Amino acid sequence: MESAEIRRRWLSFFEERGHTVVPSASLIADDPTLLLVNAGMVPFKPFFLGEEKPPYTRASSVQKCVRTPDIEEVGKTTRHGTFFQMCGNFSFGDYFKEGAIKLAWELLTGSVEHGGYGLEPEKLWITVYQDDDEAEQIWRDVVGVPAERIQRLGKKDNFWSMGVPGPCGPCSEINYDRGPEFGVEGGPAVNDERYVEIWNLVFMQYERGQGTGKEDFEILGDLPSKNIDTGLGLERLAMILQGVRNMYETDTLKVVIDKATELTGVRYGQAHESDVSLRVVADHMRTSVMLIGDGVTPGNEGRGYVLRRIMRRAVRNMRLLGATGPVVGELVDTVIRTMGEQYPELETDRKRIETVALAEEAAFLKALKGGTNILDSAVTETKAAGGTVLSGDKAFLLHDTWGFPIDLTLEMAAEQGLSVDEDGFRRLMKEQRERAKADARAKKTGHADVSAYREIADTSGATEFVGYTNTEGETT
Ligand code: ATP
Ligand code: MG
Ligand code: MG
Ligand code: MG
Repeated sequence: MESAEIRRRWLSFFEERGHTVVPSASLIADDPTLLLVNAGMVPFKPFFLGEEKPPYTRASSVQKCVRTPDIEEVGKTTRHGTFFQMCGNFSFGDYFKEGAIKLAWELLTGSVEHGGYGLEPEKLWITVYQDDDEAEQIWRDVVGVPAERIQRLGKKDNFWSMGVPGPCGPCSEINYDRGPEFGVEGGPAVNDERYVEIWNLVFMQYERGQGTGKEDFEILGDLPSKNIDTGLGLERLAMILQGVRNMYETDTLKVVIDKATELTGVRYGQAHESDVSLRVVADHMRTSVMLIGDGVTPGNEGRGYVLRRIMRRAVRNMRLLGATGPVVGELVDTVIRTMGEQYPELETDRKRIETVALAEEAAFLKALKGGTNILDSAVTETKAAGGTVLSGDKAFLLHDTWGFPIDLTLEMAAEQGLSVDEDGFRRLMKEQRERAKADARAKKTGHADVSAYREIADTSGATEFVGYTNTEGETT
């Protein structure tokens, strides 16, 4: 089943069951505590927080998401992208646990002829929160999942809160068994590559009080009105329905891999290392196009830095694969053609997207030349002095003068056998930010959105809202 069809089925299934279809919001979150939208519920946050009254009681969407913290996983695990699409259904004081569980089961296991995805029920494993007897009972007695395929997980995995006082509640995740070629048996609690998580159901039923972070807090009582928030990864379901081994080989990403192999002459499947590079290129180029499409431009701060880091990593991986000249134009064109069907604004905006992407590639190729000279002489100096660690000063200089993201410096230093003083680098970055803030205050100017994020991140990193993720927010 093609990705476009998975999306269509999702929306029509929920529309037929009384949900209002809400188009994806921009990746640029309308929320000062968040750089980029990282979950389907983000645009609905004011409703869940009770700040605004929703115009419907049931909604459904397919939301564009970017998760920068997953960047290191890309290409290495089979199921993490920096960009992905989260299919969601939401209930605002309408159906609750039983309703959400029954809908999810019906859609996943319903026959393909009747609008479902046709998954075999025996391949599905369920996790519930350790204290959530009610959810377990519904899965077992109402839906009929055998007790041995239901597992309990703790707060870290199966309890959702925003890290601050407000709504919270247990989750239940639906996982698909991809079979023994993906490792040992034992269910998702034992092996999350074999039993891949596809859908997370969040039951917002409690009010949380003060406390630290996502695990150590007190529950004050029941919410007056209970809500449902769910998220299914479109690419993960596509991977299963298309019978491929990882999300980068699904229809909309594989064409980008193919284009990269055409441009470099490196065959996919040739070697593990080059396969990882090809997957990184496909994922990162798609993320870059989607970010530029939503109006992000490369820079050294905030969202601009996220884009720069991702795009430069793609270009650098193309060079590791052997490309010598510019490659971004053709890769961008491929992404626009494959994603344009679902996001027609990419075609309308093609000229602007290409201009921004090509300018960043040109700037990076220039920087790579200049930066490589600095890096090489720094490596020689360090080694001559008998050292094994490149100084934070040098990493900062590379960042400041040549826009080298820290992970680029780390990778390039590692290739020459050195590590990098990351703490020193971060200290210098922080000092520079503080200087910039002081300057901005003096001039009484500054960019409201990013500086607001910075203030929050600097004073209390823990308050950053990260949707379902329990990973750290983006750091530079
Ligand atoms: P995982 O444990 O696999 O990292 P998660 O628990 O962080 O996933 P959720 O926050 O529950 O994911 O998001 C809801 C759904 O979105 C997941 O069940 C998964 O299908 C999908 N998803 C999450 N992160 C990614 C990603 N980086 N790439 C692709 N799909 C993702
Ligand atoms: Mg998970
Ligand atoms: Mg989850
Ligand atoms: Mg995750």
